[in-house]
Amino acid sequence: MRDFTPQEWESICCRCGQCCLIKLQDETGGEVYYTDIVCRYFDSVSKSCTCYAERCMLVPSCLKLTAQNLNKIDWIPDSCAYNILFRTGKLPDWHPLVTGKPLDKKYAVSDNVVSEQFVKEEDMEDHIIEEK
Ligand code: SF4
Ligand code: SF4
Repeated sequence: MRDFTPQEWESICCRCGQCCLIKLQDETGGEVYYTDIVCRYFDSVSKSCTCYAERCMLVPSCLKLTAQNLNKIDWIPDSCAYNILFRTGKLPDWHPLVTGKPLDKKYAVSDNVVSEQFVKEEDMEDHIIEEK
């Protein structure tokens, strides 16, 4: 992947929010499962992070994606624009930088997500939606 300016790199994020879904990892096999639970800082109406500048400090598990760590993180959603760019060398057809329009809702997290603030830890498994 070529070098990007910080601004270009940020613009690749289509703000789909898929990486803000809480993931559970099987302690034995290591499998990663996505849930329909979102990070407490995710605003499910605007589909955006409410603490973007401080996200890595407030949420230690919220990794800042870089061209260097992208291929080392196994839980990145397949639909993540960075992941697609890394795998295919180009942005997907639906990306706002390609279409010139806001992201189509169907690529963003569902409206039916629940904040982690309202889910007890012991109930999280009931919210699994798919295996990564
Ligand atoms: S999954 Fe990728 S494109 Fe979507 S919000 Fe997260 S970093 Fe941005
Ligand atoms: S801190 Fe922000 S970017 Fe990170 S997981 Fe939470 S909502 Fe998403």
